[in-house]
Amino acid sequence: MNQGNEHIQTSINWDEIRSHFPVLQQHVNGKPLSYLDNGASSELPQVVIDRINAYHTNEHANVHRGIHSLSQHATDAYEQARKKVRALINARYEEEIIYTTGTTDSINLVANSYGRKHFKEGDEIIVSEMEHHANIVPWQMIAEQTGALLKVVPVDDQGELIMDEYYKLLSDRTKMVALIHVSNVLGTINPVEEIIEAAHARNIPVLLDGAQAVPHSAVDVQNLDVDFYAFSAHKMCGPTGFGILYGKKELLDEMPPYRGGGDMIDKVTFEKTTWNDLPHKFEAGTPPIAAGVGFGVSIDYLNTIGMEIIEQREQELLQYATKKLEAVDGLQIIGTSSKKASVISFLLDGIHPTDAGTILDKEGIAVRTGHHCAQPLMDRFNIPGTLRASISFYNNEDDIDRLVKGIEYTKEFFG
Ligand code: PMP
Repeated sequence: MNQGNEHIQTSINWDEIRSHFPVLQQHVNGKPLSYLDNGASSELPQVVIDRINAYHTNEHANVHRGIHSLSQHATDAYEQARKKVRALINARYEEEIIYTTGTTDSINLVANSYGRKHFKEGDEIIVSEMEHHANIVPWQMIAEQTGALLKVVPVDDQGELIMDEYYKLLSDRTKMVALIHVSNVLGTINPVEEIIEAAHARNIPVLLDGAQAVPHSAVDVQNLDVDFYAFSAHKMCGPTGFGILYGKKELLDEMPPYRGGGDMIDKVTFEKTTWNDLPHKFEAGTPPIAAGVGFGVSIDYLNTIGMEIIEQREQELLQYATKKLEAVDGLQIIGTSSKKASVISFLLDGIHPTDAGTILDKEGIAVRTGHHCAQPLMDRFNIPGTLRASISFYNNEDDIDRLVKGIEYTKEFFG
């Protein structure tokens, strides 16, 4: 991630890019839509919608098991996406890309498969205070079953991990480090290279929750040397119900399957069943084929702009929005790390986030309010929730100006 420090010359027409997203062209509550909830789910460009429609219209068949042409065609289209994901994150092998239903499913897979095999009484799993529930609860559940314990890296007032505490927590008892790459609440980009290096010095595997990192920057899993990496298609201009678990081949090879059923087997008898090869060992049952095919086109779409250019544009918008919001009287930004992705959480003096979010919605401005699936982080800051504007490359300065105007109106409304 270059956090906007390098200047890449681009001739991208951002208005034209915005016009690729039909959802953004509409009015909501009689006002033009400013969609600033991209952290929850991003919108789909027309090419992705068209590809999914075409698949359903002309190409649908089940994958991997049909001899007939339609099934083979569907299999090819579905497997093409795996090649694109491999290239996107620079995994070494295609079979290191496991299709899941999303980040949550990916983390559950590792917790259940790797965790059940390796964790025992007294072992420790390191998470942090800024985790999404998806990177807390699966570990808690597996810890309860195996006798392992969760250890938590605290967060400072700026919303950064307290690295000294991380180093103190690492020990011979640590069997997994599972941390968020980019915080969905604070925007903090964590120092994952340093985190991974320190864990590997003790032979501890690292899982990163990349749900908010892959959509905003070029991620290279070989460069990071990360062991497991999880993300979701619907946060990167793709459909819901589809996601990725990257895992190093040598780790995935020795992990038992997580779910049983069709496709994940080699030979089934009542006495004994043997497993299919990677990646299918972890992909039981009929998968979300249309979503996978569509996600392949989402990756193509992002690549035509370029992840570095997307990151640079989002950093520009982040800086613009931060400056504007900082100037609003009675507004407090939660998460002020110097290394941030385009997520801004904030509070308004004396106005509950839900009330403010409701008024903004009436103005056609979509922001998220609440705990953002990070209740322990809310407890850390001693707040019930925040408002959150999460910015994508297809947003513009006008969306941010409208947000600021909407906030001023909200303040007037509540007197
Ligand atoms: N981790 C982070 C950081 C997230 O932002 C999200 C989505 N809000 C998730 C995990 C869960 O993703 P999904 O619901 O797609 O499984």
